[in-house]
Amino acid sequence: MMNEYKIQAKAYASYDVVVCGGGTAGCFAAIAAAREGARTLLIERTFTPGGMLTLGEAGITKFTEHCKDVDKYKTEVLDVLGTKPESVQVVRGLAREYCKRMIDNGLALGTHGEPGSYVFTDKEAAVATMMNMLDEAGVEVLYDTRVCLVNKEGSVIKSVIVVNKEGFSEIAADRFIDATGDGDVATLSGVPFNLGATEADLKEGCGRKLGEMMNFGTMYRVRGVNFERLFEYLKENPDKFHQHEFGVMSLDDVIESYNRGDMCVFRIKIGELSPTPHPNPVVQIYNLPSKDEAILLGPGCAFNNANGLDAKSLSRGQHSIKNGALALTKNLREFPGLENITATYIPDVGVRETRHIVGEYTVNGLDVVMGRKFEDAIACGGHPVDIHPIPPEIESMDMNHWRFYIPYRALVPKGVDNLLVAGRCVSATRLASGAIRPTAQCIAMGEAAGIASAMLVKSGGAGRDINVSELQEKLVEKGAII
Ligand SMILES: Cc1cc2nc3c(=O)[nH]c(=O)nc-3n(C[C@H](O)[C@H](O)[C@H](O)COP(=O)(O)OP(=O)(O)OC[C@H]3O[C@@H](n4cnc5c(N)ncnc54)[C@H](O)[C@@H]3O)c2cc1C
Repeated sequence: MMNEYKIQAKAYASYDVVVCGGGTAGCFAAIAAAREGARTLLIERTFTPGGMLTLGEAGITKFTEHCKDVDKYKTEVLDVLGTKPESVQVVRGLAREYCKRMIDNGLALGTHGEPGSYVFTDKEAAVATMMNMLDEAGVEVLYDTRVCLVNKEGSVIKSVIVVNKEGFSEIAADRFIDATGDGDVATLSGVPFNLGATEADLKEGCGRKLGEMMNFGTMYRVRGVNFERLFEYLKENPDKFHQHEFGVMSLDDVIESYNRGDMCVFRIKIGELSPTPHPNPVVQIYNLPSKDEAILLGPGCAFNNANGLDAKSLSRGQHSIKNGALALTKNLREFPGLENITATYIPDVGVRETRHIVGEYTVNGLDVVMGRKFEDAIACGGHPVDIHPIPPEIESMDMNHWRFYIPYRALVPKGVDNLLVAGRCVSATRLASGAIRPTAQCIAMGEAAGIASAMLVKSGGAGRDINVSELQEKLVEKGAII
């Protein structure tokens, strides 16, 4: 806590809402709070808003309900996006608005003009769109600023201490949102958390040993892809094509979507071209608005035994994944259609999992898998569980028109009255987190946390005592939940 340190911190102005971490969840939390009239500050440790959405090049996934059956997913979900998107999209609100601004201007790829399974964007357009949305909402942003301490009295956070070029500064606010991905502010405030796999996670079949966390990774950008040649080769060698488990597109669907100028998502089997030993190596390929660019994820782009809270682990991971992505690129030049690829942007080491804070409710695997409808649901998702190992009974589930719900209580940390959490560190078991952590849901949680915080500025009281029906009404009004 702050008083244990002797720090001279100058005071900044105080705010209604301070959002700590300007990434996937944080930017939209700030936009939502500011649109509700709250004087809002967003604090981000880099110089770019968006976190994994922009600097990390993660796909914006997934807006629709899920079908495992490839024909059903095409005809009953993806094709419906062109005429009745609201009937199959389970994430809308700010996430859809952000994507639509780019899709409508040819700066992002959707499906029939709408965000569907994955959306990938022009890199700078994503940053510019985010900056414009923040500016339009009236959010004040402090870049290059890291939250490092919390000043708490009883169960209330009075201020956070940040460090930047000016040295240490104190920023007071009525409400705080922790969107740091790692739950930094919650932890500094004494909120309990789980780091990686717990006993309960192992019982849910999610993890091999206590404390285990998902690997680091990077999804990187290449130029020089000859998609026509690649598709010709895959048509002649269908055994080299591998359907993407979340994008769910056949090779015909992929080619049709690409030719239409829409998003296509698929994998190729690369066999001995893998730069690292792997029993069945595949590379994920996502197209981009400029026709010869793609985002790749494959062997070499991962760093195991990772710990995103350990500076040395992060630093080793950074070297490993950058070199791995370059090695993969070199080897892939042997694959028809990829002969001329060059890596044009390899994001810094990407952290998939660290702390799961303990909130008023912890979403569990069964809640997600069975699509439990919570009375305090504030967001919905259609992304299947993406964490390994996945228990076999979940992997073999028959999922059609499947969706799940996120309760408000998962955003309310135990023991602190004026803090909400949004993003990958919300209160969930590892299994549930595997479905909740994808970007579209993080944006939706950010939006809900922002609106909730602005409401609480007006009403006062602890986060756990919010009028949930009023929050849900606002979210429905904005089209954020259905
Ligand atoms: C390699 C990789 C690929 C992925 N691919 C996909 C994908 O294709 N589709 C998908 O849906 N999901 C994907 N994910 C998951 C998804 O990107 C994340 O779960 C999600 O973006 C997390 O959002 P967040 O807001 O919690 O964190 P982030 O987007 O990481 O935002 C956290 C922000 O907080 C800032 N920050 C951290 N600590 C502090 C501090 N103390 N003070 C100030 N600022 C701070 C960071 O700089 C960052 O901007 C991927 C993840 C990884 C790692």
